[in-house]
Amino acid sequence: KLAVVGGGNGFIGRALAKQLQKSGYKALSVSRKPGENTLTWKSIETEGLPKNTEVVINLTGEPVLNVFKRWTPNFKQEVWDSRIKTTKTLRTAVLAADTPPKVWATVSGVGFYPPSTSRIYDELSVPESTDFWSELTHAWENSGRIKNENTRHFVVRSGVVLGKNGGAMSEMLPPFKLGLGGPMGDGKQWFPWIHIDDIAGIFMHGVKNTSVRGVLNGVAPEAHTNGEFSKALGSVLSRPALLPLPSFVVKALYGSERSVMLLQGQNVYPKLTLDSGYVYSYPKLDAALKEVTSR
Ligand code: NDP
Repeated sequence: KLAVVGGGNGFIGRALAKQLQKSGYKALSVSRKPGENTLTWKSIETEGLPKNTEVVINLTGEPVLNVFKRWTPNFKQEVWDSRIKTTKTLRTAVLAADTPPKVWATVSGVGFYPPSTSRIYDELSVPESTDFWSELTHAWENSGRIKNENTRHFVVRSGVVLGKNGGAMSEMLPPFKLGLGGPMGDGKQWFPWIHIDDIAGIFMHGVKNTSVRGVLNGVAPEAHTNGEFSKALGSVLSRPALLPLPSFVVKALYGSERSVMLLQGQNVYPKLTLDSGYVYSYPKLDAALKEVTSR
């Protein structure tokens, strides 16, 4: 059984590859660089998918919260293109395959839902306003959609993925370990989170269950604010004193449009994920943080 994963060498991709292998798949990545068990984007464009590919997933994307990259029009375009062009490339390859893959899945983000301190969103919520993040996620999801009876398609709208060796925790842990961590801004914004085993687990659940189609929210069922998250992380690290990072500093570092991701948030509930029968490995924040911060 063969699975092809765009961005498969990345943070989520590596975790997913392990779960795919456990379920008997050979996982190939699609990357900008050739390598072992790796296809290049060029080869997908010119030769299509390898014969008898059963599962195709795209997890590609220029990292958004890289503080060393200024939020310029060029960088925004890179953030956009790295997601949408790669999704279109894989979608075209899926539709052109002689034997249609059984599953085609893509990732997007909870930025699909406009930030709000009061609303609770599930997969069926209709966003009432738009910003850069909701435009990006709408375009990203739409660029992957197919109407094809032979290939089942689903999208996972991911929250902030917590795991070892990558993702948001690799940015957050060093200051917290030094006792310099704390909430961003007033800390009242929602912080939709998920453990890395669960984001990979939801993709596997979707691969295995033929009833999964459409959108699944990739967040834990337990919602927390940024302030609560910081408190829980400080406590797991025995660094209970928290140093809030003022909004103006966050805006100066990231630019105001990008800061929305950090200073505002969404309360997202994984209704269809739970209804479809997914059982979380880490439904609770404390246990997730203990695992992520353990050696
Ligand atoms: P990574 O930062 O690990 O990146 C995944 C892969 O994308 C990289 O390994 C790289 O592959 C490829 N990539 C990076 N920049 C570019 C670029 N400019 N052009 C083409 N390819 C590029 O991502 P994650 O694993 O953390 O996330 C995977 C996807 O899920 C991303 O699209 C991300 O936006 C989304 N997501 C992630 C969340 C998180 O908390 N991690 C939350 C919500 C959504 P290579 O170098 O091999 O070409």
